Amino acid sequence: MLRSEEAALPECDELTVVRHYTNHSANNFGVNNGFYPLGSCTMKYNPAIDEETASLPALTALHPLQPEDTCQGALEAYYRMQQALCAITGMGAFTLNPFAGAHGELTGLMVIRSYHMERGDKQRVKVIVPDSAHGTNPASAAVCGMEVVEVKSREDGCVDVDHLRTLLDDGVAAMMMTNPNTLGLFEHDIPEIARLVHDCGGLMYYDGANLNPLLGVCRPGDMGFDVMHVNLHKTFATPHGGGGPGSGPVGVRKGLEHLLPSPRVSYDGERYHIERDEKASSVGAFLGNFTVIIKAWTWLLSMGREHLRMVGPLATLNANYVKESLKDVYRLPIDTPCMHEFVFDGLRDKSTGITTMDVAKRLLDHGYHAPTIYFPLLFHESLMVEPTESESLDTLDAFISVMRRIAEEAATDPEVVKSAPHSTPIGRVDDVLAAKNPVLTYKRLAQ
Ligand SMILES: *Cc1c(COP(=O)(O)O)cnc(C)c1O
Repeated sequence: MLRSEEAALPECDELTVVRHYTNHSANNFGVNNGFYPLGSCTMKYNPAIDEETASLPALTALHPLQPEDTCQGALEAYYRMQQALCAITGMGAFTLNPFAGAHGELTGLMVIRSYHMERGDKQRVKVIVPDSAHGTNPASAAVCGMEVVEVKSREDGCVDVDHLRTLLDDGVAAMMMTNPNTLGLFEHDIPEIARLVHDCGGLMYYDGANLNPLLGVCRPGDMGFDVMHVNLHKTFATPHGGGGPGSGPVGVRKGLEHLLPSPRVSYDGERYHIERDEKASSVGAFLGNFTVIIKAWTWLLSMGREHLRMVGPLATLNANYVKESLKDVYRLPIDTPCMHEFVFDGLRDKSTGITTMDVAKRLLDHGYHAPTIYFPLLFHESLMVEPTESESLDTLDAFISVMRRIAEEAATDPEVVKSAPHSTPIGRVDDVLAAKNPVLTYKRLAQ
């Protein structure tokens, strides 16, 4: 088993390694360095107190198998988070086990499948998904072994209820929706959609990754949704990006609690218990991403009921302010009030040849993270902005003036936009090559 040749490992001293990583870390971009208007991602500020709490040794030194009596405080926080999510969403019970939004979707769909199986409704395998849905929705349904059926959007960007009617039969397991939808528009027909889907025997699934604008304003449970997930790493101010730790708790309405995965934390009026149901399946190790849950719980406590109510309206106000200030130079395909985010379809003046990619790259020169681009797929030049509630008026005004300046440059000096970015450590990369032929391993240079 001994290798015959020396391993090709990098050879350098500690100081060189320290400089290498320190200099790289200075090139990182995060919410803590600048505005990060990445649509559909809710890149809000994560207050430092959340990190402080989650780093308390009393919490980080816990072992997942230690006796319940020795970690009552941690279990109480966990239990209270389950309860808070029920109160915020109008659901009957929550599991905090899933590790991401997509993982939550899969877990929720497994709950829905079990519900139909339990009733002997084995033929219910279809999951209806709007054409504007986030890609994880059809992906989760497919991974769950279900059949994806797409429902069209109307001109106004909302689900086409007439088309939906033609898709409903006794093969429908569920309809998945996010509200506000991926275009940042509030779906007004949900009560009717829920009635139609329920009448044909299906369940309503709410993709709660867009819960931010609804926080404390209205609840998916009151709109007729039966199963849902939330993204603690979006709405509940825990850091995310770069595939970092997430948490996608799943909630179900009353009557479906027994279908949730195990374990959950319960309270008997005196002590907190880890309930392990031997018959129920599990979707991850132990209780989920405990420190992420603590960050979200800290955030909720620091906001309190009263301030939580301001999140949605402020996020909505910020998005509408930016949209209205730019729609004379960027094309707004659906010109209605938006919720927490909106989508432009490139520049209004198409004659410049400047694409959404060019605009996004030029924004980097001004110290901004790029918005979400070429998503949703409904428009050719989608550029999606979500400012979140945590940005100040000054930040929004500065962003607006830079976006206007780029639109002006597109007309007067298109080359500078086409060849952007100019101020980043690496200029414009070949995205296709980087995706298709990534070089990810260390290679020793020839000596
Ligand atoms: C982010 C997002 C998801 C997926 O969440 P992950 O944690 O990235 O898996 C699902 N739906 C919508 C609408 C989202 O914005």
